[in-house]
Amino acid sequence: MDINNILTQLGITENNPGTSTGTAWFGSGSTICSSSPVDGKHIASVQTTSTEEYEKVLQTAEQAFQFWRNVPAPKRGEVVRQLGEALREKKECLGALVSYEMGKSLQEGLGEVQEMIDICDFAVGLSRQLYGLTMHSERPGHRMYEQWHPLGIVGIISAFNFPVAVWSWNAALALICGNVCLWKPSSKTPLCAVACQHIIAEVLKANNLPEGISSLISGNPVGNLINNDKRIPLVSFTGSTRIGREVSSVVARRFGKTILELGGNNAIIISKEADLDMSIIGAVFGAVGTAGQRCTSTRRLIIHEDVYDNFKDKLVKAYAQLRIGNPLDQRNHVGPLIDTMAVDMYLSAIEKGKTEGARFIVDGSVLNGSEHASGCYVKPCIAEVENHFEIVQEETFAPILYLIKYKTLDEAVQLQNAVPQGLSSAIMTLNMREAEQFLSANGSDCGIANVNIGTSGAEIGGAFGGEKETGGGRESGSDAWKAYMRRQTNTINYGTTLPLAQGIKFDF
Ligand code: NAD
Repeated sequence: MDINNILTQLGITENNPGTSTGTAWFGSGSTICSSSPVDGKHIASVQTTSTEEYEKVLQTAEQAFQFWRNVPAPKRGEVVRQLGEALREKKECLGALVSYEMGKSLQEGLGEVQEMIDICDFAVGLSRQLYGLTMHSERPGHRMYEQWHPLGIVGIISAFNFPVAVWSWNAALALICGNVCLWKPSSKTPLCAVACQHIIAEVLKANNLPEGISSLISGNPVGNLINNDKRIPLVSFTGSTRIGREVSSVVARRFGKTILELGGNNAIIISKEADLDMSIIGAVFGAVGTAGQRCTSTRRLIIHEDVYDNFKDKLVKAYAQLRIGNPLDQRNHVGPLIDTMAVDMYLSAIEKGKTEGARFIVDGSVLNGSEHASGCYVKPCIAEVENHFEIVQEETFAPILYLIKYKTLDEAVQLQNAVPQGLSSAIMTLNMREAEQFLSANGSDCGIANVNIGTSGAEIGGAFGGEKETGGGRESGSDAWKAYMRRQTNTINYGTTLPLAQGIKFDF
């Protein structure tokens, strides 16, 4: 892959330091070095946003909002439609950059860009459907209804593992709702963000729209500025529970709103009535896909005792066939972790598991040699554990899969729910009663609950997010748009008297 050619196609040059209000680029803060976990090579340096520059970006965004909120929503949708078209044109090169900078497979990189296109399409339709309800007033000659207004500047703070899609899930909806967006991407994938900013800036420019409708700022310190900034009514944060807890408490203190998309600890229940061949595909892809670095990655398998040994053997055989290497080579199943810090976390989780009593049936290790020169490639591993082990209760962002045995469905559901996180969950069963119990109010406590599908990945049409320490936010489809708007209840008196609510008399 010729990375320089890809950067050129995406308009990334030395003049794009990493901070932008539309087409205006600047950045005089410290430098972030982007290097690829695929081969360890330095790709480019990105200069971060200084505090003074942050102020400039905020002022430009505030001005842009004064304009953008008055553009009719379907016209805003037309701009998002053009963003989708621009993404279609750049899909191949943007997908390749995602794959090279983040380390996911090329197919997953392209899939991420496809999700961006899909959410733009979804948002275009939605721009004509920002419906409010009409209610019957209890007073004669009165009409009551609600409408939805934009919030203002939406701060988007995103994680490294979906370096482009998370921005678009937020931006496409926020924009059609009449907000302007300020994006702070992960410092581990800054170039993907620069590429997206180029794409949207071109669309804004072609429509003669204010630059501040979509801005990009870089560097960890500016994340803190967003949290504390009263001019940003909504902060949509995607990342770890640890940082999310901090972000949410700071934003709440100033009565700002948050959408929190935090860590998961996702399990698949494998019933004795499951299609085991189908279950193996769901379990292995869920556990090792993106090297276990999806928020929806499968971390735990809760397996019925009658099929436990059989399923375990199938898993071990499947793991023996996994090819680990360059994710741009489509023959490989597993790519690298994001960096060597992530490798250290993987190793220390394995050690911690062992001290707690985990029995590894497929051992983990770090891979060496020329094909794995970045030092970020690790072997997916499997351990038999108890659900209550501390390490099992945590999200380790790496391909470590835990096996737990169960006897009854009630016990399986209890185990599945007995973790602090509540993002994605699944049951593999051909028994309708089991499936329905799992989906009922007595079943999974997660934001996503699937039957005969693994935990990993989701379609943009549904509301995406999870409960408990996953943060409670919802993004993307269904009515997730409402989080990007403020609801206003309107009552109009078209009569000739002024009756008070609740029948109150106030004569004088
Ligand atoms: P992270 O928490 O380390 O970083 C997330 C973002 O927060 C980055 O942009 C980072 O620069 C920024 N940040 C760091 N400190 C900050 C602060 N004090 N204030 C504001 N921003 C700050 O997460 P990560 O390692 O990039 O991503 C992995 C995590 O993200 C996993 O826990 C994963 O489950 C989670 N994730 C969740 C979802 C979801 O939808 N639930 C999706 C993707 C990733």
